[in-house]
Amino acid sequence: MYGKVLICDPVDTVMTDKLKDKFEIDYKPKISSQELLEVIKDYDVVVVRSRTKITKDVISNGKKLKIIARAGIGVDNIDTDYAEEKHIKVVYAPGSSTESVVEITLAMMVIGARSLYKGMENTRKNDFTKLKGMELEGKTLGILGFGRIGKAIVDASRTFKMKFIAYDPMPVEYPEYVKKVSLDELMEQSDVISINVTMRKDSPYILNDNELSKLKEGVIIVNTSRARAINGKDMLKYLKNGKISAFVSDVFWNEPAKEEYEMEMLKLDNVMITPHLGAQTKEAQKRIAIMTADNIINEW
Ligand code: NAD
Repeated sequence: MYGKVLICDPVDTVMTDKLKDKFEIDYKPKISSQELLEVIKDYDVVVVRSRTKITKDVISNGKKLKIIARAGIGVDNIDTDYAEEKHIKVVYAPGSSTESVVEITLAMMVIGARSLYKGMENTRKNDFTKLKGMELEGKTLGILGFGRIGKAIVDASRTFKMKFIAYDPMPVEYPEYVKKVSLDELMEQSDVISINVTMRKDSPYILNDNELSKLKEGVIIVNTSRARAINGKDMLKYLKNGKISAFVSDVFWNEPAKEEYEMEMLKLDNVMITPHLGAQTKEAQKRIAIMTADNIINEW
């Protein structure tokens, strides 16, 4: 039996190549939330990346829906609890973009430590003023969320000869060169913090004023996971007073920003934001498309 698949966001063509023998596919990579609510009733499978939100209303309207596929990793744009209640399977592509996220994270650590972004901005205006930074060698890198990407970041940054500490509330394994610490210890001891946690749709902030107040003076924070790991309003104070010397992030609370604290943050020199580029490489997109298509076929 042919199923009907709706693809709501841009995906590599290898996905449709893999699915086309078993499914009838509609590719609508710019579909609006209103149109999705209206047409979802006709589909058995819906594929999204991070732009499209699969809300309770979308699931309610999807009377034939059997599979929700996230072409990527975080499923925080999907009401997974309601999907489960309705016996709809949610599949995703774990590990498919680890390499790409690791590479961008290392670049961000160096950008934060050496003011590379400011330097490049200056030379565009023919300003060759020297900016002093800090070496990563010998510094402590604290990983918040020691999963696939967190572990791979440690492995890749061993070349910087840093010390490694990590906090994760789950019983994950730590290699002998990574010290398991509490969240408070991570805040107090890290010179650089890399945030690599998974968040659910309704997860509370992990870093609020209480945790941020314990940070080392001049810490660099890199976030390539989800903005909601940090309370942005609380963080603003520590960016303005320089306690956080650099915040380099691939994710933002709203993308694009719309809240006042976000707009204020974007104007600060020590805040450097990229537009969610972590998995945006041709290699990662291909792996994501293949794994997502395979998962759909296996669950069908
Ligand atoms: P993973 O599930 O392998 O690891 C995440 C880890 O976070 C887990 O070990 C989990 O126990 C831990 N964690 C959860 N809550 C925590 C908390 N409160 N404090 C500390 N640790 C906590 O996931 P992964 O593949 O390593 O991905 C990590 C994150 O990167 C995800 O949020 C994912 O959405 C994000 N990501 C972003 C991009 C991007 O484009 N920037 C691309 C891929 C993945």
